[in-house]
Amino acid sequence: MVSGMYETVRYTYRLRPGRRAQAALLGEWGRCRWLWNEAVHQQKTGRKPTMCKLSKLLTEARGRSAWLREGSQVAQQQTLRTYATALDHSFKVKGRGRPKKKRKKDALPSLEYTTRGFRIKDGRLCLPGKVTVPVVWSRDLPSAPSSARVYRDSLGHWYASFVVKRDRAETAEAELPGIGVDWGVKTTAATTDTRFDLPHLGHRKRCAAELAKAQRTMARRRRPKGHAASKGYLDAKRRAARIAKKAARQNTHDARVWAKRVTDHHALIAVEDFKPKFLAKTRMARKAADAAIGTCKRELIELGTRAGRRVVLVPPAYTTMTCSVCGTRAKERLGLGVRVFDCAACGHSADRDVNAARTILATAERHRASADDIRHSITSFRDGGSDAVRAGNPGLAGREIPADSSVGIR
Ligand SMILES: [Zn+2]
Repeated sequence: MVSGMYETVRYTYRLRPGRRAQAALLGEWGRCRWLWNEAVHQQKTGRKPTMCKLSKLLTEARGRSAWLREGSQVAQQQTLRTYATALDHSFKVKGRGRPKKKRKKDALPSLEYTTRGFRIKDGRLCLPGKVTVPVVWSRDLPSAPSSARVYRDSLGHWYASFVVKRDRAETAEAELPGIGVDWGVKTTAATTDTRFDLPHLGHRKRCAAELAKAQRTMARRRRPKGHAASKGYLDAKRRAARIAKKAARQNTHDARVWAKRVTDHHALIAVEDFKPKFLAKTRMARKAADAAIGTCKRELIELGTRAGRRVVLVPPAYTTMTCSVCGTRAKERLGLGVRVFDCAACGHSADRDVNAARTILATAERHRASADDIRHSITSFRDGGSDAVRAGNPGLAGREIPADSSVGIR
């Protein structure tokens, strides 16, 4: 099933830059950020920047300003390339906005290097401008990396993420045929087989009280505009970021464990193509649930395709109101409080979520991906990860994700 012996993945390591290296990285980021904002400005003033125009912009800007010439050309080129891709996606991927300006106060530093821009020597990451950074090698690199992303997170920790090739691990044949997955608030994943259900873990919610406390402190210590932030404010901000990060990490861990279990046992994985964005604007609980669903969906698709399983995304429209036995669509939408689905046509009665999961699985089983379908899903998938895979019309047609799409590489 799976084509090729290698897979392309990212390996991420913690960096421990010294004071000088950190200053150099931030300097580099400042220059790249300026270029990005310049490109955004060009786009806004009507000159749609193609990669060709952007290259010209870089050459001219470097010719004019010694400040830019001090920085790495590779990092600057890559910034504009990333911008060009983001702009391209804003036209092609539904729901994707135009690239925005990166503000100094809240944009997190991120630098991209191709093999021309970095190397690894004596266990240290060597970057342009004689910057060397110690790397925490938590595991071995499986091959020589083809590119590197150096970035800082909201806690101020630096990381390097390398794109590498590794041997594809053999996955045993699945003993169960298929599973349908329906996402929800109370049960993050309701499946056709209750043994594989995932209850809502609510790590974010559990941290909410702690987070709220930190945010209250922030509000109390906030100084008026134009004044430097107080130490108390910065401390509270850091604390809030740490709590949020911890919850997100726990979510990812649980999602991965669950996705691995589902993948190990099933040949066909039918997933509701849920788009969290539309609901995330409302309440806190809803937000936490959406975040958990987003993580689970991403992990499941990634692990499933990597293992060579058939992964089909089924559009969420009508799944809750379609009978999983006879396929008749109910005339009216089920109210949110209605927990049981009753079919008016055949009299079938089942738990609302279980029926939805079964409908999702049945849709995927009927679905045969055409060659065109697959090609389309590869591009849309590479374009923007899981949330970019759009399944055609809402007529309950699934979209299959091919096994060899490099889902982890963004
Ligand atoms: Zn029925």
